[in-house]
Amino acid sequence: MEQLVELIANAKRMTALTGAGISTESVIPDFRSSGGIYTQREDAMDLLSLSTFYSRPKDFYEFFRAAFLQYSNVLPNRGHEVLAKWEKLGRLSAVITQNIDGLHQAAGSERVLELHGHLRTVHCPKCGAEMSMEEAKKYEPYPVCPKCQVPMKPDVVLFEEPLPEDVFGEALTEVGKTDLMLVIGTSLTVSPANLLVNYRNPNSRLVIINMSSTPYDWTADLVIRGKAGDVLSQVDGELGW
Ligand code: NAD
Repeated sequence: MEQLVELIANAKRMTALTGAGISTESVIPDFRSSGGIYTQREDAMDLLSLSTFYSRPKDFYEFFRAAFLQYSNVLPNRGHEVLAKWEKLGRLSAVITQNIDGLHQAAGSERVLELHGHLRTVHCPKCGAEMSMEEAKKYEPYPVCPKCQVPMKPDVVLFEEPLPEDVFGEALTEVGKTDLMLVIGTSLTVSPANLLVNYRNPNSRLVIINMSSTPYDWTADLVIRGKAGDVLSQVDGELGW
């Protein structure tokens, strides 16, 4: 922990890459931990794919609602809050997140690059019309475009879909400039988000804060096994910012 405090205190341009693990302390299950979404349904990846959305929208939405839409009243935790505080102090330049839950913004983070989209809206794949998720939730069994009468797609990146080019491009630029990359609460198994670790500034340091091992651990300058909220709030306390 001392090493982490020192690295953060000396960083000029710190960037965080977060995953579902930062939100488990807000009681949103991740994918791969025990009790995670994959342990509840073996076919979760298939259900959350673009082809299932197109071919079986009812099955897609049934699972999507259960997996993500029931968490709309969840609050950010200390992990999200510390990152938002560090951004306000000018110490953290951006949060790059794989999460779709909006909890970084709810904690006060302003520069959040959402690699996998968000739960705020749905779109018609045919005419491009937008609808808020609040409105979309009222439809059973799934939201339908009032004009085209086709299922509307949540603005999250599904399996089989590419990442939004502009957001991924901005994330690449960001990690290219960072001198300290904090990777928090992600298994680093989902591509291309995990590749950001490889594309970071070659002179930067890498810290991984995660409950379990990741394929990138051996490349890191420091690996901390612990809960994101505990680790970040302890470090923040020791920094005394
Ligand atoms: P993942 O489930 O593959 O990995 C989560 C990692 O976080 C695991 O290695 C686990 O050990 C660790 N972890 C769990 N709780 C932790 C905690 N309190 N502190 C530190 N580490 C903790 O998730 P991923 O790597 O983000 O990739 C899966 C995909 O799942 C992402 O694309 C994301 O969009 C999606 N997802 C998002 C949410 C969300 O928005 N909250 C929830 C589930 C899945």
